[in-house]
Amino acid sequence: MAAAEIPSVKLLDGTSIPVLGLGTWKSKPGEVKAAVEAAISAGYRHIDCSPVYENEVEVGDAIAAKIKDGTVTREKLYIVSKLWQTYHEPDDVEAGLKVTLKDLQVEYLDLYLMHFPIGFKQQSGHTSARDANNQIITTDRDYVDTWKAMEKLVEKKLVRSIGVSNFNEKQIDRILENCTIKPVTNQVECHPYFNQKPLSDHCANKGIILTAYSPFASPDRSWASPDEPKLLEDPALVAVAKKYNKTVANILLRYQIERGHITIPKSVSPDRITQNKQIFDFKLEPSDISQIEKLNRPDGRVILMSFCKDHKYYPF
Ligand code: NAP
Repeated sequence: MAAAEIPSVKLLDGTSIPVLGLGTWKSKPGEVKAAVEAAISAGYRHIDCSPVYENEVEVGDAIAAKIKDGTVTREKLYIVSKLWQTYHEPDDVEAGLKVTLKDLQVEYLDLYLMHFPIGFKQQSGHTSARDANNQIITTDRDYVDTWKAMEKLVEKKLVRSIGVSNFNEKQIDRILENCTIKPVTNQVECHPYFNQKPLSDHCANKGIILTAYSPFASPDRSWASPDEPKLLEDPALVAVAKKYNKTVANILLRYQIERGHITIPKSVSPDRITQNKQIFDFKLEPSDISQIEKLNRPDGRVILMSFCKDHKYYPF
């Protein structure tokens, strides 16, 4: 039986993006190929990648395998990757993309994002140069210059759409004031403990759709503390899940969809990959959304990149 289709939404440049994609950060080589293949077999078309996840070669092998076995065509897939911070110099932008295209074994990306608004001095590829104290060396390169180089990738038809990631309101506005091509999305951390209401509203006002990364608050990140609150076990969410006869993961993803966001949960488990797409057969009632919104916390952000917090372009 054919897998049910994941709905798509129109972006401001006229292209369409599936509202649910598969995240691949922390998905290990050796696991990620099977995960991407399972996702494509289950009906996922949108895959979220980055060279800094150090698994694009395996993701590319999975994509190639699913095209070869006839499950999908390249045109039906929606492949996203990101310009890493070591490629912010305008002359390096195309080289950064070319590494990703080669590793993913594709001729173009559907969407290319600037991963973070701060540049890093390159040692080689996505590896940063470090100072005598082993600290990453940042650069002062203006992300607007980097953006202009990304616009050229659209003109060259190497990418269909471009967007940003981890940008704040002011940085979005600076791009909008200086661009020829507008960013279609801002991919940021978003979940009930850090619901990004002001940024989501700001982006929506500009026609930019927010992509919610870490929709489960990234419980497998290496610096997660054992005593931090666990979103997937939050009693308020467990109660909502029970009401709809769904899992907490389903509720967390449906919450993003109801807000008009795109979301990209990561999993390497075929069962959870399938479970995470069981979110298009129910709707959350406004009273349940209000309950979920009460979970927002001032310390809810889990991805901070705090080592560069003094940089003039630090977004958080
Ligand atoms: P996440 O999606 O919030 O959580 C992933 C974790 O949840 C994994 O431990 C996974 O375990 C588990 N999980 C998945 N489905 C589950 C389910 N149904 N029930 C219970 N547990 C489940 O974390 P994330 O990886 O941080 O974020 C998602 C994606 O967003 C990333 O992979 C990446 O593609 C993107 N991202 C982008 C940025 C950026 O700067 N642009 C930053 C962070 C993340 P299993 O794998 O074992 O199932």
